[in-house]
Amino acid sequence: MSLPSHLYDPLRIASALSPALFSLGDPDLLVELLNSNPAGVVLVEADPDLPVVYCNESFQHWAPIGDRPILGRSLLELFVWADRSAVRSTYRSVIQSGVPIHRRSVPYRPRPQDQDAAGYWSASHYPLRGPHGQVTHVLSMTIDVTNQALGQVRLQETQQRALSTLAMIARHLTSAGQAPSFFNELSATIAELVSAERVAFWLYDADEETISARLGHFGFSVDDLELASRLPCRPGGTDPLERVVFDELIVVKGSGIVVPWKAGDHRLGALGAYESTRASGFTDEDVRALQAAATAAALVWEHRQADEALAEIRDRETTGLRQQIEQSIELEHLKTDFLKLASHELRGPLGVVRGYISMMEDGTLGPIGQSVTPVLPLLRAKLDEMNQLINEIVETARLEDSALELQFNRLDLRDVVRAALHALEPLTGEGHRLVTSIADQPVTVVGDASRLRMVVTNLVHNAIKYSPQGGEVCVTCDVEDGLARVAVTDQGVGIAAEDRDRLFTRFGRIVTRDTAGLPGTGLGLYLARDLARRHGGDVTVQSEPGRGSTFTLGLPLSRA
Ligand code: ADP
Repeated sequence: MSLPSHLYDPLRIASALSPALFSLGDPDLLVELLNSNPAGVVLVEADPDLPVVYCNESFQHWAPIGDRPILGRSLLELFVWADRSAVRSTYRSVIQSGVPIHRRSVPYRPRPQDQDAAGYWSASHYPLRGPHGQVTHVLSMTIDVTNQALGQVRLQETQQRALSTLAMIARHLTSAGQAPSFFNELSATIAELVSAERVAFWLYDADEETISARLGHFGFSVDDLELASRLPCRPGGTDPLERVVFDELIVVKGSGIVVPWKAGDHRLGALGAYESTRASGFTDEDVRALQAAATAAALVWEHRQADEALAEIRDRETTGLRQQIEQSIELEHLKTDFLKLASHELRGPLGVVRGYISMMEDGTLGPIGQSVTPVLPLLRAKLDEMNQLINEIVETARLEDSALELQFNRLDLRDVVRAALHALEPLTGEGHRLVTSIADQPVTVVGDASRLRMVVTNLVHNAIKYSPQGGEVCVTCDVEDGLARVAVTDQGVGIAAEDRDRLFTRFGRIVTRDTAGLPGTGLGLYLARDLARRHGGDVTVQSEPGRGSTFTLGLPLSRA
Protein backbone atom coordinates (compact mmCIF):
# COMPACT_ATOMS: atom_id res chain seq x y z
CA MET A 1 0.00 0.00 0.00
CA SER A 2 1.56 3.36 -1.00
CA LEU A 3 1.08 6.81 0.34
CA PRO A 4 -0.53 9.49 -1.95
CA SER A 5 2.36 11.63 -3.13
CA HIS A 6 0.70 14.96 -2.28
CA LEU A 7 0.79 13.92 1.36
CA TYR A 8 4.55 13.70 1.68
CA ASP A 9 4.76 17.37 2.44
CA PRO A 10 1.89 17.57 4.94
CA LEU A 11 3.24 14.50 6.64
CA ARG A 12 6.49 16.31 7.22
CA ILE A 13 4.57 18.78 9.33
CA ALA A 14 3.51 16.11 11.81
CA SER A 15 5.93 17.05 14.48
CA ALA A 16 5.66 13.87 16.48
CA LEU A 17 7.04 11.81 13.66
CA SER A 18 10.76 11.60 13.84
CA PRO A 19 12.43 14.41 11.83
CA ALA A 20 15.18 11.96 10.96
CA LEU A 21 12.59 9.87 9.18
CA PHE A 22 11.60 12.73 6.91
CA SER A 23 15.10 13.89 6.34
CA LEU A 24 15.67 10.69 4.45
CA GLY A 25 13.82 12.37 1.59
CA ASP A 26 13.02 9.02 -0.03
CA PRO A 27 9.20 8.45 -0.22
CA ASP A 28 9.54 4.74 -0.88
CA LEU A 29 11.79 4.29 2.08
CA LEU A 30 9.34 6.31 4.19
CA VAL A 31 6.48 4.07 3.10
CA GLU A 32 8.51 1.03 3.80
CA LEU A 33 9.37 2.26 7.25
CA LEU A 34 5.75 3.06 7.99
CA ASN A 35 4.66 -0.32 6.69
CA SER A 36 7.10 -2.18 8.87
CA ASN A 37 6.45 0.02 11.92
CA PRO A 38 5.14 -1.98 14.92
CA ALA A 39 2.83 0.93 15.70
CA GLY A 40 -0.43 0.96 13.75
CA VAL A 41 -0.43 3.91 11.31
CA VAL A 42 -3.59 5.11 9.60
CA LEU A 43 -4.28 8.18 7.50
CA VAL A 44 -7.84 9.42 7.08
CA GLU A 45 -9.34 12.31 5.17
CA ALA A 46 -10.73 15.22 7.11
CA ASP A 47 -14.27 14.20 6.23
CA PRO A 48 -17.07 13.29 8.72
CA ASP A 49 -16.95 9.69 7.47
CA LEU A 50 -13.19 9.55 7.98
CA PRO A 51 -12.32 7.58 4.84
CA VAL A 52 -9.02 5.72 5.08
CA VAL A 53 -6.37 6.73 2.56
CA TYR A 54 -3.51 4.71 4.00
CA CYS A 55 -2.84 2.19 6.73
CA ASN A 56 0.11 -0.04 7.51
CA GLU A 57 0.04 -3.72 8.40
CA SER A 58 0.20 -3.25 12.14
CA PHE A 59 -2.94 -1.17 12.01
CA GLN A 60 -4.91 -4.10 10.67
CA HIS A 61 -4.53 -5.71 14.11
CA TRP A 62 -7.40 -3.41 15.17
CA ALA A 63 -9.29 -3.66 11.95
CA PRO A 64 -9.68 -7.31 11.02
CA ILE A 65 -11.21 -6.63 7.67
CA GLY A 66 -10.48 -9.91 5.98
CA ASP A 67 -9.82 -9.66 2.27
CA ARG A 68 -11.91 -6.59 1.66
CA PRO A 69 -9.95 -3.53 0.54
CA ILE A 70 -9.45 -1.01 3.27
CA LEU A 71 -8.78 2.15 1.28
CA GLY A 72 -11.73 4.43 0.90
CA ARG A 73 -13.69 2.80 3.73
CA SER A 74 -14.80 4.75 6.77
CA LEU A 75 -12.61 4.38 9.83
CA LEU A 76 -15.78 4.16 11.91
CA GLU A 77 -16.92 1.22 9.91
CA LEU A 78 -13.65 -0.58 10.60
CA PHE A 79 -13.92 -0.15 14.31
CA VAL A 80 -17.23 -1.87 14.73
CA TRP A 81 -16.55 -2.78 18.40
CA ALA A 82 -14.79 0.38 19.50
CA ASP A 83 -16.59 3.29 21.05
CA ARG A 84 -17.51 4.96 17.75
CA SER A 85 -18.78 8.19 19.19
CA ALA A 86 -15.50 8.62 21.07
CA VAL A 87 -13.52 7.96 17.87
CA ARG A 88 -15.66 10.41 15.93
CA SER A 89 -15.35 13.19 18.48
CA THR A 90 -11.56 12.74 18.77
CA TYR A 91 -11.11 13.16 14.99
CA ARG A 92 -13.59 16.02 14.82
CA SER A 93 -11.64 17.83 17.51
CA VAL A 94 -8.29 17.32 15.73
CA ILE A 95 -9.76 18.50 12.40
CA GLN A 96 -11.47 21.55 13.88
CA SER A 97 -8.72 22.66 16.25
CA GLY A 98 -5.73 21.63 14.16
CA VAL A 99 -4.07 20.49 17.42
CA PRO A 100 -2.77 16.91 17.91
CA ILE A 101 -4.45 14.72 20.50
CA HIS A 102 -2.74 12.00 22.48
CA ARG A 103 -4.70 9.32 24.29
CA ARG A 104 -3.06 6.95 26.76
CA SER A 105 -4.22 3.44 27.74
CA VAL A 106 -7.66 3.61 26.16
CA PRO A 107 -9.62 0.36 26.76
CA TYR A 108 -10.90 -1.51 23.71
CA ARG A 109 -12.40 -4.91 22.99
CA PRO A 110 -10.06 -7.03 20.88
CA ARG A 111 -12.99 -9.07 19.54
CA PRO A 112 -16.53 -7.85 18.84
CA GLN A 113 -18.04 -10.56 21.02
CA ASP A 114 -16.04 -9.46 24.10
CA GLN A 115 -18.30 -7.66 26.51
CA ASP A 116 -15.59 -6.23 28.73
CA ALA A 117 -12.60 -4.35 27.47
CA ALA A 118 -9.62 -6.63 27.80
CA GLY A 119 -7.22 -4.61 25.64
CA TYR A 120 -5.64 -1.14 25.89
CA TRP A 121 -4.15 1.14 23.26
CA SER A 122 -2.39 4.43 23.25
CA ALA A 123 -2.87 6.67 20.23
CA SER A 124 -1.62 9.98 18.85
CA HIS A 125 -3.65 11.85 16.21
CA TYR A 126 -1.87 14.50 14.14
CA PRO A 127 -3.60 17.02 11.87
CA LEU A 128 -2.01 17.30 8.39
CA ARG A 129 -2.58 20.55 6.46
CA GLY A 130 -3.09 21.20 2.73
CA PRO A 131 -1.54 24.00 0.66
CA HIS A 132 -3.97 26.61 2.08
CA GLY A 133 -3.34 25.69 5.67
CA GLN A 134 -6.60 23.84 6.18
CA VAL A 135 -6.57 20.37 7.83
CA THR A 136 -6.96 17.85 5.02
CA HIS A 137 -6.01 14.63 6.74
CA VAL A 138 -5.44 13.10 10.18
CA LEU A 139 -2.56 10.72 10.73
CA SER A 140 -2.98 8.35 13.69
CA MET A 141 -0.33 6.18 15.27
CA THR A 142 -1.61 3.53 17.60
CA ILE A 143 0.22 1.14 19.90
CA ASP A 144 -1.21 -1.80 21.81
CA VAL A 145 -0.33 -1.28 25.45
CA THR A 146 -2.44 -4.10 26.85
CA ASN A 147 0.51 -5.87 28.46
CA GLN A 148 1.89 -2.76 30.08
CA ALA A 149 -1.53 -1.71 31.35
CA LEU A 150 -2.33 -5.13 32.74
CA GLY A 151 1.21 -5.38 34.14
CA GLN A 152 0.64 -2.10 35.91
CA VAL A 153 -2.58 -3.38 37.41
CA ARG A 154 -0.90 -6.63 38.42
CA LEU A 155 2.01 -4.74 39.96
CA GLN A 156 -0.40 -2.68 42.00
CA GLU A 157 -2.18 -5.83 43.13
CA THR A 158 1.10 -7.47 44.11
CA GLN A 159 2.20 -4.41 46.02
CA GLN A 160 -1.14 -4.32 47.73
CA ARG A 161 -0.78 -7.95 48.67
CA ALA A 162 2.75 -7.55 49.93
CA LEU A 163 1.57 -4.65 52.03
CA SER A 164 -1.28 -6.64 53.51
CA THR A 165 1.16 -9.51 54.21
CA LEU A 166 3.38 -7.14 56.14
CA ALA A 167 0.39 -5.65 57.94
CA MET A 168 -0.78 -9.12 58.99
CA ILE A 169 2.68 -10.05 60.21
CA ALA A 170 2.99 -6.78 62.08
CA ARG A 171 -0.34 -7.54 63.79
CA HIS A 172 1.01 -10.94 64.86
CA LEU A 173 4.19 -9.38 66.08
CA THR A 174 2.51 -7.16 68.61
CA SER A 175 0.40 -10.02 69.97
CA ALA A 176 3.05 -12.72 69.61
CA GLY A 177 3.88 -14.91 72.57
CA GLN A 178 6.15 -17.92 72.27
CA ALA A 179 7.96 -18.61 68.97
CA PRO A 180 6.05 -21.79 67.98
CA SER A 181 2.61 -20.30 68.50
CA PHE A 182 3.70 -17.17 66.67
CA PHE A 183 4.90 -19.11 63.63
CA ASN A 184 1.77 -21.28 63.73
CA GLU A 185 -0.42 -18.22 63.63
CA LEU A 186 1.71 -16.76 60.89
CA SER A 187 1.37 -19.99 58.88
CA ALA A 188 -2.42 -19.76 59.15
CA THR A 189 -2.32 -16.16 57.92
CA ILE A 190 -0.07 -17.07 55.01
CA ALA A 191 -2.37 -19.98 54.10
CA GLU A 192 -5.22 -17.50 53.86
CA LEU A 193 -3.11 -15.07 51.89
CA VAL A 194 -2.08 -17.49 49.16
CA SER A 195 -5.21 -19.70 49.36
CA ALA A 196 -3.35 -22.83 50.46
CA GLU A 197 -4.59 -25.81 52.45
CA ARG A 198 -1.29 -26.19 54.26
CA VAL A 199 1.69 -23.99 55.06
CA ALA A 200 4.95 -24.87 56.78
CA PHE A 201 8.05 -23.07 57.97
CA TRP A 202 10.89 -25.49 57.30
CA LEU A 203 13.63 -24.75 59.81
CA TYR A 204 17.14 -25.79 58.84
CA ASP A 205 19.44 -27.13 61.57
CA ALA A 206 23.05 -26.59 60.45
CA ASP A 207 24.53 -28.75 63.24
CA GLU A 208 22.35 -31.74 62.46
CA GLU A 209 22.13 -30.98 58.73
CA THR A 210 18.41 -31.63 58.87
CA ILE A 211 15.27 -29.69 58.15
CA SER A 212 11.96 -29.91 60.02
CA ALA A 213 8.53 -28.39 59.71
CA ARG A 214 7.99 -28.17 63.46
CA LEU A 215 8.62 -24.49 64.07
CA GLY A 216 5.38 -23.26 62.57
CA HIS A 217 2.78 -24.91 60.40
CA PHE A 218 -0.84 -24.87 59.41
CA GLY A 219 -3.02 -27.71 58.18
CA PHE A 220 -0.50 -30.47 58.99
CA SER A 221 -1.54 -33.57 60.93
CA VAL A 222 0.63 -35.06 63.67
CA ASP A 223 1.58 -37.88 61.29
CA ASP A 224 2.50 -35.40 58.56
CA LEU A 225 4.72 -33.61 61.01
CA GLU A 226 6.38 -36.81 62.07
CA LEU A 227 7.23 -37.46 58.44
CA ALA A 228 8.37 -33.86 57.94
CA SER A 229 10.77 -34.00 60.84
CA ARG A 230 14.57 -34.04 60.64
CA LEU A 231 14.80 -34.68 56.94
CA PRO A 232 18.40 -34.72 55.74
CA CYS A 233 19.36 -31.35 54.29
CA ARG A 234 22.90 -30.84 53.06
CA PRO A 235 24.59 -28.36 50.73
CA GLY A 236 24.93 -29.87 47.28
CA GLY A 237 21.88 -32.13 47.82
CA THR A 238 19.49 -32.70 44.95
CA ASP A 239 16.25 -32.92 46.87
CA PRO A 240 14.00 -29.95 45.97
CA LEU A 241 13.98 -28.75 49.59
CA GLU A 242 17.77 -28.89 49.74
CA ARG A 243 17.96 -26.92 46.53
CA VAL A 244 15.55 -24.31 47.85
CA VAL A 245 17.66 -23.89 50.98
CA PHE A 246 21.10 -23.90 49.38
CA ASP A 247 20.57 -22.85 45.74
CA GLU A 248 17.70 -20.47 46.46
CA LEU A 249 15.55 -22.31 44.03
CA ILE A 250 11.87 -21.42 43.94
CA VAL A 251 9.73 -24.50 43.49
CA VAL A 252 6.43 -23.87 41.78
CA LYS A 253 4.26 -26.87 41.09
CA GLY A 254 0.55 -27.43 40.90
CA SER A 255 0.70 -29.10 44.30
CA GLY A 256 2.70 -26.43 46.05
CA ILE A 257 5.19 -23.61 46.08
CA VAL A 258 8.31 -23.44 48.20
CA VAL A 259 10.53 -20.39 48.55
CA PRO A 260 13.83 -19.86 50.42
CA TRP A 261 13.63 -18.47 53.94
CA LYS A 262 16.68 -16.35 54.70
CA ALA A 263 17.72 -13.65 57.13
CA GLY A 264 20.50 -11.76 55.36
CA ASP A 265 23.11 -14.42 54.56
CA HIS A 266 21.79 -16.75 57.22
CA ARG A 267 19.87 -19.71 55.77
CA LEU A 268 16.90 -20.26 58.01
CA GLY A 269 15.23 -22.83 55.75
CA ALA A 270 12.23 -22.65 53.47
CA LEU A 271 8.62 -21.54 53.45
CA GLY A 272 6.15 -23.83 51.69
CA ALA A 273 2.49 -23.50 50.75
CA TYR A 274 0.69 -26.63 49.56
CA GLU A 275 -2.58 -27.48 47.77
CA SER A 276 -4.23 -24.38 46.44
CA THR A 277 -7.85 -23.92 47.46
CA ARG A 278 -8.47 -22.22 44.11
CA ALA A 279 -9.38 -24.37 41.13
CA SER A 280 -6.92 -22.42 38.98
CA GLY A 281 -4.10 -23.32 41.37
CA PHE A 282 -1.25 -21.16 42.58
CA THR A 283 -0.30 -18.03 40.61
CA ASP A 284 2.82 -15.95 40.21
CA GLU A 285 1.29 -13.52 42.66
CA ASP A 286 1.09 -16.30 45.25
CA VAL A 287 4.81 -16.91 44.80
CA ARG A 288 5.52 -13.24 45.29
CA ALA A 289 3.25 -13.10 48.35
CA LEU A 290 5.01 -16.12 49.82
CA GLN A 291 8.39 -14.49 49.21
CA ALA A 292 7.21 -11.31 50.92
CA ALA A 293 5.94 -13.39 53.85
CA ALA A 294 9.29 -15.21 54.07
CA THR A 295 11.17 -11.91 54.11
CA ALA A 296 8.96 -10.51 56.83
CA ALA A 297 9.12 -13.74 58.86
CA ALA A 298 12.93 -13.66 58.60
CA LEU A 299 12.93 -10.16 60.08
CA VAL A 300 10.76 -11.41 62.92
CA TRP A 301 13.08 -14.38 63.41
CA GLU A 302 16.16 -12.17 63.61
CA HIS A 303 14.43 -9.82 65.99
CA ARG A 304 13.45 -12.72 68.24
CA GLN A 305 16.91 -14.26 68.15
CA ALA A 306 18.39 -10.93 69.20
CA ASP A 307 15.83 -10.66 72.01
CA GLU A 308 16.57 -14.16 73.21
CA ALA A 309 20.31 -13.59 73.11
CA LEU A 310 19.85 -10.42 75.14
CA ALA A 311 17.66 -12.19 77.69
CA GLU A 312 20.26 -14.95 77.99
CA ILE A 313 23.03 -12.44 78.63
CA ARG A 314 20.84 -10.69 81.18
CA ASP A 315 20.09 -14.01 82.91
CA ARG A 316 23.72 -14.97 82.94
CA GLU A 317 24.70 -11.60 84.38
CA THR A 318 21.99 -11.77 87.02
CA THR A 319 23.07 -15.26 88.05
CA GLY A 320 26.71 -14.18 88.19
CA LEU A 321 25.81 -11.14 90.23
CA ARG A 322 23.68 -13.19 92.61
CA GLN A 323 26.53 -15.63 93.10
CA GLN A 324 28.93 -12.80 93.76
CA ILE A 325 26.59 -11.28 96.33
CA GLU A 326 26.08 -14.64 98.03
CA GLN A 327 29.82 -15.18 98.10
CA SER A 328 30.52 -11.80 99.60
CA ILE A 329 27.75 -12.27 102.20
CA GLU A 330 29.33 -15.58 103.13
CA LEU A 331 32.74 -13.93 103.34
CA GLU A 332 31.31 -11.21 105.55
CA HIS A 333 29.88 -13.84 107.90
CA LEU A 334 33.21 -15.60 107.99
CA LYS A 335 34.99 -12.37 108.77
CA THR A 336 32.54 -11.48 111.55
CA ASP A 337 32.84 -14.97 113.04
CA PHE A 338 36.59 -14.71 112.90
CA LEU A 339 36.56 -11.30 114.59
CA LYS A 340 34.29 -12.56 117.34
CA LEU A 341 36.43 -15.58 117.94
CA ALA A 342 39.71 -13.68 117.88
CA SER A 343 38.53 -11.00 120.28
CA HIS A 344 37.05 -13.55 122.66
CA GLU A 345 40.30 -15.47 122.73
CA LEU A 346 42.31 -12.28 123.31
CA ARG A 347 40.17 -11.01 126.17
CA GLY A 348 41.05 -13.91 128.47
CA PRO A 349 44.84 -13.47 128.48
CA LEU A 350 44.43 -9.68 128.58
CA GLY A 351 42.31 -9.98 131.75
CA VAL A 352 45.03 -12.01 133.41
CA VAL A 353 47.74 -9.42 132.56
CA ARG A 354 45.49 -6.60 133.76
CA GLY A 355 44.95 -8.48 137.07
CA TYR A 356 48.73 -8.81 137.61
CA ILE A 357 49.32 -5.16 136.87
CA SER A 358 46.62 -4.19 139.40
CA MET A 359 48.29 -6.46 141.97
CA MET A 360 51.68 -4.89 141.23
CA GLU A 361 50.15 -1.43 141.58
CA ASP A 362 48.49 -2.06 144.92
CA GLY A 363 51.45 -4.08 146.33
CA THR A 364 49.58 -7.39 146.59
CA LEU A 365 52.47 -9.03 144.81
CA GLY A 366 54.91 -7.64 147.31
CA PRO A 367 57.46 -4.90 146.72
CA ILE A 368 58.43 -4.24 143.12
CA GLY A 369 61.64 -2.79 141.83
CA GLN A 370 62.00 0.95 141.35
CA SER A 371 62.69 0.57 137.72
CA VAL A 372 59.29 -1.09 137.19
CA THR A 373 57.11 1.42 139.05
CA PRO A 374 57.37 4.23 136.47
CA VAL A 375 56.41 2.00 133.57
CA LEU A 376 53.29 0.60 135.22
CA PRO A 377 51.02 3.46 134.00
CA LEU A 378 52.32 2.98 130.45
CA LEU A 379 51.73 -0.74 130.67
CA ARG A 380 48.19 -0.05 131.83
CA ALA A 381 47.66 2.46 129.02
CA LYS A 382 48.91 -0.02 126.46
CA LEU A 383 46.60 -2.59 127.95
CA ASP A 384 43.73 -0.12 127.63
CA GLU A 385 44.76 0.45 124.06
CA MET A 386 44.62 -3.25 123.35
CA ASN A 387 41.36 -3.42 125.17
CA GLN A 388 40.01 -0.63 122.99
CA LEU A 389 41.05 -2.48 119.87
CA ILE A 390 39.32 -5.62 121.05
CA ASN A 391 36.28 -3.62 122.01
CA GLU A 392 36.16 -2.07 118.57
CA ILE A 393 36.33 -5.49 117.01
CA VAL A 394 33.65 -6.90 119.28
CA GLU A 395 31.41 -3.91 118.77
CA THR A 396 31.79 -4.08 115.01
CA ALA A 397 30.95 -7.76 115.04
CA ARG A 398 27.87 -7.03 117.17
CA LEU A 399 26.88 -4.19 114.92
CA GLU A 400 26.97 -6.46 111.89
CA ASP A 401 25.04 -9.13 113.70
CA SER A 402 22.47 -6.48 114.61
CA ALA A 403 23.20 -7.48 118.19
CA LEU A 404 24.43 -4.08 119.32
CA GLU A 405 22.14 -2.76 122.04
CA LEU A 406 22.71 0.66 123.51
CA GLN A 407 22.00 1.55 127.15
CA PHE A 408 20.59 5.07 127.00
CA ASN A 409 20.83 7.32 130.05
CA ARG A 410 20.93 11.04 130.66
CA LEU A 411 24.55 11.93 131.17
CA ASP A 412 27.00 14.79 131.20
CA LEU A 413 29.22 14.53 128.18
CA ARG A 414 32.00 16.30 130.11
CA ASP A 415 32.31 13.23 132.38
CA VAL A 416 32.67 10.98 129.35
CA VAL A 417 35.44 13.19 127.96
CA ARG A 418 37.27 13.38 131.29
CA ALA A 419 37.19 9.61 131.77
CA ALA A 420 38.53 9.01 128.27
CA LEU A 421 41.31 11.55 128.70
CA HIS A 422 42.27 10.15 132.03
CA ALA A 423 42.79 6.73 130.52
CA LEU A 424 44.75 8.13 127.60
CA GLU A 425 47.00 10.46 129.48
CA PRO A 426 49.91 8.02 129.82
CA LEU A 427 49.98 7.64 126.02
CA THR A 428 50.61 11.29 125.29
CA GLY A 429 54.28 10.98 126.19
CA GLU A 430 56.67 13.82 125.84
CA GLY A 431 56.01 14.81 122.27
CA HIS A 432 52.33 15.66 122.77
CA ARG A 433 50.63 18.32 124.77
CA LEU A 434 47.07 17.57 125.70
CA VAL A 435 45.08 20.78 125.93
CA THR A 436 41.50 20.58 127.15
CA SER A 437 38.74 23.11 127.03
CA ILE A 438 35.74 21.80 128.90
CA ALA A 439 32.56 23.84 129.35
CA ASP A 440 31.67 25.11 132.80
CA GLN A 441 28.05 24.08 132.48
CA PRO A 442 26.94 20.44 132.12
CA VAL A 443 26.63 19.24 128.52
CA THR A 444 23.69 16.92 128.96
CA VAL A 445 22.83 14.29 126.40
CA VAL A 446 20.94 11.01 126.41
CA GLY A 447 23.36 8.25 125.51
CA ASP A 448 25.26 5.11 126.24
CA ALA A 449 28.17 6.25 128.43
CA SER A 450 30.56 3.42 127.63
CA ARG A 451 29.93 3.65 123.87
CA LEU A 452 30.34 7.43 123.85
CA ARG A 453 33.54 7.03 125.80
CA MET A 454 34.69 4.61 123.15
CA VAL A 455 34.01 7.20 120.47
CA VAL A 456 35.87 9.99 122.29
CA THR A 457 38.74 7.65 123.14
CA ASN A 458 39.06 6.70 119.51
CA LEU A 459 39.14 10.32 118.35
CA VAL A 460 41.74 11.38 120.91
CA HIS A 461 43.77 8.24 120.43
CA ASN A 462 43.82 8.83 116.67
CA ALA A 463 44.86 12.45 117.21
CA ILE A 464 47.88 11.24 119.17
CA LYS A 465 48.63 8.35 116.83
CA TYR A 466 48.39 10.36 113.62
CA SER A 467 50.64 13.16 114.84
CA PRO A 468 53.80 11.12 115.14
CA GLN A 469 55.90 14.32 115.26
CA GLY A 470 53.99 15.30 118.39
CA GLY A 471 52.34 18.68 118.89
CA GLU A 472 49.23 19.89 120.56
CA VAL A 473 46.12 17.76 120.87
CA CYS A 474 43.23 20.00 121.81
CA VAL A 475 40.01 18.50 123.15
CA THR A 476 36.98 20.73 123.49
CA CYS A 477 33.66 19.78 125.05
CA ASP A 478 30.89 22.38 124.88
CA VAL A 479 27.59 23.35 123.33
CA GLU A 480 27.62 24.94 119.91
CA ASP A 481 24.73 25.75 117.61
CA GLY A 482 22.36 23.87 119.94
CA LEU A 483 24.46 20.67 119.79
CA ALA A 484 26.59 18.94 122.35
CA ARG A 485 30.05 18.87 120.84
CA VAL A 486 33.37 17.18 121.42
CA ALA A 487 36.07 18.44 119.04
CA VAL A 488 39.51 16.89 118.87
CA THR A 489 42.16 18.85 117.00
CA ASP A 490 45.68 17.70 116.26
CA GLN A 491 48.67 19.03 114.35
CA GLY A 492 49.40 15.75 112.69
CA VAL A 493 49.59 14.31 109.19
CA GLY A 494 46.14 15.42 108.12
CA ILE A 495 43.93 13.78 105.47
CA ALA A 496 43.61 14.56 101.76
CA ALA A 497 40.13 15.65 100.67
CA GLU A 498 39.64 12.66 98.37
CA ASP A 499 40.32 10.24 101.23
CA ARG A 500 37.90 11.70 103.74
CA ASP A 501 34.88 9.55 102.82
CA ARG A 502 36.93 6.40 103.15
CA LEU A 503 37.84 7.10 106.76
CA PHE A 504 34.43 6.12 107.97
CA THR A 505 34.14 2.87 106.07
CA ARG A 506 34.82 -0.54 107.54
CA PHE A 507 38.53 -1.32 107.59
CA GLY A 508 39.03 2.03 105.83
CA ARG A 509 42.64 3.02 106.48
CA ILE A 510 44.65 5.59 104.62
CA VAL A 511 48.18 4.44 104.29
CA THR A 512 50.63 7.15 103.34
CA ARG A 513 54.34 7.55 103.86
CA ASP A 514 53.58 9.22 107.21
CA THR A 515 51.18 6.57 108.50
CA ALA A 516 52.59 3.38 107.01
CA GLY A 517 54.05 1.99 110.25
CA LEU A 518 51.16 2.95 112.55
CA PRO A 519 49.06 0.08 113.91
CA GLY A 520 45.28 0.06 113.61
CA THR A 521 42.24 -1.88 112.45
CA GLY A 522 40.46 0.72 110.37
CA LEU A 523 37.35 0.08 112.47
CA GLY A 524 37.48 2.94 114.98
CA LEU A 525 35.95 5.74 112.89
CA TYR A 526 33.49 3.37 111.23
CA LEU A 527 32.23 2.42 114.65
CA ALA A 528 32.44 5.99 115.99
CA ARG A 529 30.22 7.37 113.24
CA ASP A 530 27.77 4.48 113.49
CA LEU A 531 27.47 4.89 117.27
CA ALA A 532 27.11 8.67 116.96
CA ARG A 533 24.35 8.23 114.41
CA ARG A 534 22.57 5.79 116.67
CA HIS A 535 22.51 8.64 119.14
CA GLY A 536 20.99 10.95 116.54
CA GLY A 537 24.33 12.72 116.00
CA ASP A 538 27.39 12.36 113.77
CA VAL A 539 31.16 12.44 113.57
CA THR A 540 32.60 14.84 111.01
CA VAL A 541 36.08 15.82 109.92
CA GLN A 542 37.96 18.89 108.79
CA SER A 543 41.55 18.51 107.81
CA GLU A 544 44.47 19.99 106.03
CA PRO A 545 47.09 17.52 104.83
CA GLY A 546 50.39 18.04 106.66
CA ARG A 547 48.86 20.50 109.14
CA GLY A 548 46.39 18.55 111.17
CA SER A 549 42.76 17.53 111.55
CA THR A 550 39.72 18.23 113.64
CA PHE A 551 37.27 15.42 114.31
CA THR A 552 33.98 16.52 115.85
CA LEU A 553 31.38 14.43 117.62
CA GLY A 554 28.05 16.25 117.59
CA LEU A 555 25.08 14.98 119.61
CA PRO A 556 21.59 16.31 120.26
CA LEU A 557 21.27 18.00 123.64
CA SER A 558 18.88 16.47 126.14
CA ARG A 559 15.88 18.78 126.46
CA ALA A 560 14.82 17.96 130.00
P1 ADP B 1 42.73 2.98 112.67
O1 ADP B 1 42.56 1.81 113.54
O2 ADP B 1 43.45 2.70 111.39
O3 ADP B 1 43.22 4.19 113.36
P2 ADP B 1 40.27 4.44 112.35
O4 ADP B 1 38.97 3.99 111.82
O5 ADP B 1 40.26 5.02 113.69
O6 ADP B 1 41.24 3.24 112.17
O7 ADP B 1 40.80 5.52 111.35
C1 ADP B 1 40.73 5.24 109.97
C2 ADP B 1 41.86 5.95 109.24
O8 ADP B 1 41.63 7.34 109.27
C3 ADP B 1 43.20 5.76 109.82
O9 ADP B 1 43.82 4.60 109.36
C4 ADP B 1 43.93 7.01 109.40
O10 ADP B 1 44.46 6.82 108.11
C5 ADP B 1 42.86 8.04 109.32
N1 ADP B 1 42.81 8.90 110.51
C6 ADP B 1 42.01 8.77 111.59
N2 ADP B 1 42.22 9.77 112.47
C7 ADP B 1 43.16 10.57 111.92
C8 ADP B 1 43.81 11.78 112.35
N3 ADP B 1 43.53 12.40 113.50
N4 ADP B 1 44.75 12.34 111.51
C9 ADP B 1 45.02 11.75 110.33
N5 ADP B 1 44.47 10.61 109.89
C10 ADP B 1 43.53 10.02 110.68
